[in-house]
Amino acid sequence: MSRKTPIYEGKAKVLYEGTEPGTIIQYFKDDATAFNAQKRGTIAGKGVLNNMITEFVMTRLAEIGIPTHFIRRLNMREQLCRKCEIVPIEVVVRNIVAGSMAKRLGLEEGERLPRPIVEFYYKDDDLGDPLVSDEHILALGWASAEELEEIVGMTLRVNDYLCGLMRGIGIKLVDFKLEFGRVWEGDFAHLVLADEFSPDNCRLWDAETNEKMDKDRFRRDMGGVEEAYQEVARRLGVLPESAEIEMLNKDK
Ligand code: C5P
Repeated sequence: MSRKTPIYEGKAKVLYEGTEPGTIIQYFKDDATAFNAQKRGTIAGKGVLNNMITEFVMTRLAEIGIPTHFIRRLNMREQLCRKCEIVPIEVVVRNIVAGSMAKRLGLEEGERLPRPIVEFYYKDDDLGDPLVSDEHILALGWASAEELEEIVGMTLRVNDYLCGLMRGIGIKLVDFKLEFGRVWEGDFAHLVLADEFSPDNCRLWDAETNEKMDKDRFRRDMGGVEEAYQEVARRLGVLPESAEIEMLNKDK
């Protein structure tokens, strides 16, 4: 396979220089990590499914006026995106108590929150992505007050929209993580939603059974990980033919 210039290799994706100026290519791997990369594995076909699911979600969000870095899907594992400067904050929204919030505050998983909660984590693997407040973000200059306001506004719109979209296919959107980036035009930067939206970075529970359909199945050794990702893609209407996924896995 002829390869472009790699810019960065993350846990689940590789970024390459794009084919057009101001662009990058996101390549979705099958590699999975959890607990700040202390647990590692692969989920067969995950890269293909996350590419498809991200394309679907980013396209729907652009339709409701959320600016995103997504330009177009190139093939089964790659998408072309606008190059942006990532704001070093992971924005998490929670609708239902789960994961680190349940642990940190001694709460029962599954309790619905009276309103969505937005949390910020400083993006730093060495520090284990610590929870921070808006005060840290502003004082340490990771984002301006205007940017932070825009980030929270966009995040809550994304949450409202995706809660409805997921409900329509029998899924509860428990929580998710977003990342934002700055696209520079001269001295002026505007924010775009960046990275990905997939079962790697959200919690999705079946609306009827509360069965987990996301990366928690891998984190908690529950089995049925591939099947859960496939089911999310199937309900969204973006599941490729299984033969196509198998062929790609052989090529890797
Ligand atoms: O672990 P925690 O409960 O804080 O995760 C909240 C949400 O953010 C989950 O949907 C999880 O998948 C996502 N997340 C992520 N990347 C991280 C931390 C959390 O995608 N580094």
